[in-house]
Amino acid sequence: MIQNPVPWPNGARCAVAFTFDMDADSILHLAHPDRAHQMVATLSMLRYGPLVAVPRILETWRKFNLKQTFFVPAWCIESYPGVVEAIVRDGHEIGHHGYIHEHPNELSRDEELYWLQRGIEVIVKHTGQRPRGWRAPLYNFSNHSLELLLQEAFLYDASLMGDDVPYLLRGKTGELVELPSHWGLDDWPQFTHSLDLGYQKPIRAPERAWEVFWAEFEAAVKYGGLWIAVWHPMVSGRLARWHRTEKMIESMLARGDVWIATLEEIARHVRACIGAGTWKPRVDELPYYDAPVRVNGPVTTEYGDQNAAIGADPRRKS
Ligand SMILES: [Zn+2]
Repeated sequence: MIQNPVPWPNGARCAVAFTFDMDADSILHLAHPDRAHQMVATLSMLRYGPLVAVPRILETWRKFNLKQTFFVPAWCIESYPGVVEAIVRDGHEIGHHGYIHEHPNELSRDEELYWLQRGIEVIVKHTGQRPRGWRAPLYNFSNHSLELLLQEAFLYDASLMGDDVPYLLRGKTGELVELPSHWGLDDWPQFTHSLDLGYQKPIRAPERAWEVFWAEFEAAVKYGGLWIAVWHPMVSGRLARWHRTEKMIESMLARGDVWIATLEEIARHVRACIGAGTWKPRVDELPYYDAPVRVNGPVTTEYGDQNAAIGADPRRKS
């Protein structure tokens, strides 16, 4: 099922990381720059993440003696410095997640570089070290992101969805480890209901969502994969959901053959395997496309105007 499973440490069957994107209210200010400050109920829902859920999550990591990765927009680090200080004090990893959750693939290359570097400065100031990993806000990796991450000496990216195991992104200037996940392991589609943010997902019992996450876990264990949850404190850190998560972690740990680690640890392990020749990654060349895809062919009046990708065949005589 998986062509090149990674030899995980100590013969583990799969690698697991519960990564949290601590977006707090950055996403509301980005979506509604002029009105967000008046959306008090939504602000309270989003502030629940750093103020109530993160302390709860940290307590769980202490209980199970786990270190994990938090991706935090730099604006959130500046707005909730005490929360980030607590995360760092407990030995967890802080990853780069934009400045105020801006979407890189809607920016120019220079704008993307500006916010990337400004975010790095904030992370260095508050954590004492440069970020090793990056996750594009809302998975909006751009055609410049790889080159800029290599320029800024990142160890890994965690934004893409192109495989079940780590792989390499190859650009003009080098290669970067990709630690992929996908929407099936993201908590947003399971729960997020917010009229102000434009999401109206049906809210179900945590058990239903955790069935989805657990099915992914069972397959990862069976075939030697990678299980990276892309969760949000304000979503999965709510009381009933986090109660369910603790049971899930207990089940994972009880197996004794699962490696729960930070993304930095997983990326370093992958790099070590490549260096030692014990594992060969698949390589994806980026960018996939330099320009919009155009397909030439006969244009019918029925579809011609409806699909901008279909152009008239220049060889065709009208
Ligand atoms: Zn985010």
